[in-house]
Amino acid sequence: MTIEIDPLETQHSDLDDSFRRHGFERLRAAGAPIPAAELVATSPGGIESAQRTLDTLVQRGMAILETEKLVAIDGLSVIPRQHRMLLSGRRLFTWCAADAVGIPAALGSDAEVKTVCPHCSAEIEITIHAGVPRADEELVLWLPTSSCSHVVTQFCPDVNFFCNREHLDAWRSQRGEPEGRSLNADEAAQLGRQWWAYLSPRWPEVQSR
Ligand SMILES: [Zn+2]
Repeated sequence: MTIEIDPLETQHSDLDDSFRRHGFERLRAAGAPIPAAELVATSPGGIESAQRTLDTLVQRGMAILETEKLVAIDGLSVIPRQHRMLLSGRRLFTWCAADAVGIPAALGSDAEVKTVCPHCSAEIEITIHAGVPRADEELVLWLPTSSCSHVVTQFCPDVNFFCNREHLDAWRSQRGEPEGRSLNADEAAQLGRQWWAYLSPRWPEVQSR
C-alpha cells in the first residue's frame, strides 16, 4: 500500500538525504538543540550539499533553527509541542499526530505517544511496539490534501488524531468541510514508513527499487 500524500517531499526531492538522516539521528539521540554549523560540518555527504539542504528545509518549514541551533527537523522536535512521545525512553515532541506515530513506525521502535483530540480535547494515547501501533480501533487520523508551501505552519496544525469518526466529522463541519483523507493508526504507521524511509541506512537501494 502506498499512500500518496507527501508534504515532506521524501520521495522526489533535491535534498541531501545523508544530511537529513544525520540531522535527524543527532537530534533524536541528543534530545536537545544542536549547533547547525557543527551538523553541517560533520555531515557525511559534505558541507556544501548539507548547507544547501538545511537552507531548503528551513525555507519549506521542514526544519527549525533557533539561535543557530537545530531544534526540529522533519517533524521531530526537541522543544515542546502538542504531540509528545517517549521514543525508546527519550522524551521528544512532534509537529503533528502523523509524525508521532510515523517516526517510531519508520524506526521500528517502541514508543508511548500522547496527543489530543481537537474536537473534545480528550488525551489520546497510542502505544507502539517495534514500530507497530496498538491503538483504539475507532481512532482516526486526519490529513489535509490541500497544497502547502511551509510544512510546519500550514500542514501540521491540521494533522490530528480524533477519538472517532463522529468527532472528526463534527470538527470538519465547523471548519467548512476542508479537503483531506482519514487513516486509521495502522495506515498512519505505513505512511510514516514511507515518509521517513530515508532514515534507513539502505535508503538509496530502497528508493531505487
Ligand atoms: Zn474527541
